[in-house]
Formats: sequence, structure tokens, C-alpha cells
Amino acid sequence: MSSLFPALAGTPAPHPALRFGDRSLTYAELATAAAALAPRLRDAGRVAVWATPTLETAVGVVAALLAGVPAVPLNPKSGESELGHIVRDSAPTLTLTAPGTELPAALGELERVDIDVEELRGQGGPHAFEDISPDSPALVVYTSGTTGPPKGAVIPRRAIATTLDALADAWQWTEDDVLVHALPLFHVHGLILGILGPLRRGGAVRHLGRFDTEGVARELSSGATMLFGVPTMYHRIAEALPTDPALAKALAGARLLVSGSAALPVHDHERIAAATGRRVIERYGMTETLMNTSVRADGEPRAGTVGVPLPGVELRLVEDDGTPLTAYDGESVGEIQVRGPNLFTEYLNRPDATAAAFTPDGWFRTGDMAVRDPDGYVRIVGRKATDLIKSGGYKIGAGEIENALLEHPGVREAAVTGEPDPDLGERVVAWIVPADHQSPPPADELASHVATRLAPHKRPRTVHYLTALPRNDMGKIMKRALRTHD
Ligand code: ATP
Ligand code: MG
Repeated sequence: MSSLFPALAGTPAPHPALRFGDRSLTYAELATAAAALAPRLRDAGRVAVWATPTLETAVGVVAALLAGVPAVPLNPKSGESELGHIVRDSAPTLTLTAPGTELPAALGELERVDIDVEELRGQGGPHAFEDISPDSPALVVYTSGTTGPPKGAVIPRRAIATTLDALADAWQWTEDDVLVHALPLFHVHGLILGILGPLRRGGAVRHLGRFDTEGVARELSSGATMLFGVPTMYHRIAEALPTDPALAKALAGARLLVSGSAALPVHDHERIAAATGRRVIERYGMTETLMNTSVRADGEPRAGTVGVPLPGVELRLVEDDGTPLTAYDGESVGEIQVRGPNLFTEYLNRPDATAAAFTPDGWFRTGDMAVRDPDGYVRIVGRKATDLIKSGGYKIGAGEIENALLEHPGVREAAVTGEPDPDLGERVVAWIVPADHQSPPPADELASHVATRLAPHKRPRTVHYLTALPRNDMGKIMKRALRTHD
């Protein structure tokens, strides 16, 4: 524990650690509360955490880390069947939750431990911080389920410490940073980066409960220094900026604006830069690998790239036949494979999937395709399974077509998929949410918009108009659902 969170060990400081709405804990209070809860968890095999965006979730996870018991954060918005799958798969001994929470039937059989923060923070007593092996499992985090049923990634303590220290180096992240947080707490982004990150640095977190641009503006103009968001949040910011000078001023004053979990559309990046003078930096990671690359705070931010490998991360691009690419030419596409101390240990109960995810020499196959610019910057083209369209002898990345479509004033949201085509093998299909549903841009106009910007063979052959794209709780587009619409 002491090795994961130095600011909670020894004599924890009286300065702010966590704030959710009008409730907060200092480092000293958090250390006391977690130390008071930890002994009740010590004999558990694994503990489920009902991961609402609350102080209770943060205290529960820190207490489990202190006890050396793996925590399984659960998405309170999961449907019964997904929750049932995760609970059966991870087989926790008990559920940690806030008092008064109504838990669904899938958790009914488990012992329930209510976290009464007011009571715990007052308990005092010595903090028994133990040395726990860096190889031992800290968390079991389920993947977002974008491409299939979520898989439980077993994340060792070492991976958390390594990734957070690599980000500290890349982002010049210190105890003086105050993070504005509005993400859910059951994925890597919101929990490991957004809660454990500031706690490892000794800095503070202010969680908004739910995202809104007013909250972001308020916090960034009253002492907060950084914002972590997913692309849907930056999209909303980009949309609000033209009529919200206070938001523009707040963002202009931030030290760091970071986006991740999915590709940030170039159009939104450019609009934010134009209105605030600030460039959002992108980082790229996965549940299985934690963080792999980032644009560095002292580097050159560039729209559409996820920067360079983080310290300690080995990264290569590999062709279909397994040959590593050596050229950094901004054109040759390969699968990203990574190796390093940031990796997970295994998928829980899935030796088959774990074995399939690694090459014989220990590289993890991310399933993401990318190119590298001559200076080493990584540009993600998309996922091998859903974003690479093989059409007329070309391999076309969905991402650049989506970026081109989003530059059309009549397009609010765009997703591109490939569908079987008797002539082309696959054809490019666009799914559009028009800016104005009364007069959506015609398909031929969108096709020529793309053809002139990119290349004629990249134009969409079919355009579907939707009122919203199917997205998961991180705002990721569920392309599986788009395909089945047909
Ligand atoms: P599942 O594995 O269950 O299908 P998922 O891959 O969406 O779901 P996560 O581990 O939460 O689950 O997400 C990791 C993926 O998110 C990466 O493999 C990558 O495709 C995408 N991603 C993360 N950050 C970025 C980024 N900055 N740009 C583009 N894609 C990103
Ligand atoms: Mg995945």
C-alpha cells in the first residue's frame, strides 16, 4: 500500500484528496477510513464494488488495495444479464456499497458491506500498511464490451504503479495538480487514471457526479488544473464553446486537457484549439495494458495522433503475417503490439483468450491498427475487427472517413463500417446523425465530400441516417449494433 500511495502512508497530510459534490476527504481522513474498513475485507477472496461515482466507491477500492484483496468494480448501469455474467465470472465474496443503495437481484446472494464514510473517518487508530507483492492482483476490471462480452482483466499492482508513474513523467503530473473528473469509476480511465492517479501523486480530485460543461468551467476557473475526458465530452465542449466565453476562458487556463478511451475526432480537436488556444492531448490505452502511448505535455500536440510510447512500454506494428514493420512512414498499417510492466496478468477464467492474446514471445496483441509518423508518433487507424474495411483491393480505415464526414457542416455524428459487397469484397457504409434532421445532407453530397478530401475509393457507397449512434457508457460507438441494424 505504502508503495502504491505514498501520500496515504506514514503521517497522511491534512490536504484535500477527494471531493464528490459537497462531500470530501483529506488524505488523513481517507487513510483513516480505508484502514478502518480494510480488516473487514482481509478474508475475502475478491470484493465487488458497486461503483457509483461517489466517495464510497473510492474508499472501498482504496480499502481493498490496503487489504490486498482484489476489487471488482461493477457498472451500476449494467443490465441484469451483463451484471449476472460478471458476478458469476468474478465470484466475489461480498459487495461494497453506499448505505441505502438498492442492489439488483444479481447481487442478492452476496454478503453486503455498507461503507459509512462518516463513521469510518472518525475511527482513528493505527494505519496498518502492509507490504504486498507487486505481482498480486489489485483489480479485476471488465473490458468495455465494445467488440464482444466484457472480459475480466486481472490487473497487478505493479501495472498500476508503472502506468501512473509513466503518465506522471509524460504529463509532468504532480501533487499540485487538481483533476476535474466526470467519468464513471468502473473502467481504467475513471478509476485507475482518475482516482488512483491523483492519489498516487498526492494531488486532488474533484468529481462532478455527472458531466456538464458548467461544472468543467466552474472547477477549472477555481483552482483545478487538469481535465480527463472521453471524446463525447470534448464534443460537447466543442459544441458549447462558441456561445460560452466562460468555458473558453476556463479551458484556456487549464494546465492539461487529456482525451482517451476512443479516438478524438479531428474536427472537435480543431474547434477547441481555435476557441481556446489549447490543444487537447490524446493518450491510448486498454483495460489489458493500461496506458501505452501519450502525447507528452512537453511534446508537440497533433490532432489525430496518440503520441509516443510511454516510458517502459515497448511498442511495435506488425503485419498480418507477423512481420514487424520497420518503416516509420505514416502509411504502412500494422497491428499495435505491446510489451512491458504495464500489462495485465490474464483474463479471468479465460485461459483460451489469454493465450490467444499473446504472441509466443510475449507481445500483447491489441487488435488496434495504426501507422507511425517519421518522428514516432502513433496514429490509430481503428480496430482490426471493425474499423478496417477491405474494399476493391484497398485496406481503408474507418477513422479517417469519419473525420472527413464530421467536417461536413450537415453532419453531427458519424460512424463508418464495412459491409459485404459482391464486387468490392466490402463496401464503405456511413451512419450519420445529421445536424438538422429536417434537411439531412444527401448521400451523393457526402460521397463527393469524402472523395475530394481523401480519395474516390474511400467514399461511402451507402449512407444510413440515425437520430443517435449506439454508444456505451464511455461514449464508444458500438459498431456491432450498427451492423445488426441492416
Ligand atoms: P472490448 O475489449 O470488451 O471489446 P474495449 O476494447 O472498448 O471493449 P477497453 O479496454 O475499455 O475496452 O478499450 C480499449 C480500446 O479503446 C482500445 O483497444 C482502442 O481500440 C480504444 N482506444 C482507447 N484510447 C484510444 C484513443 N486515444 N484513440 C483511439 N482508440 C482508443
Ligand atoms: Mg478491447
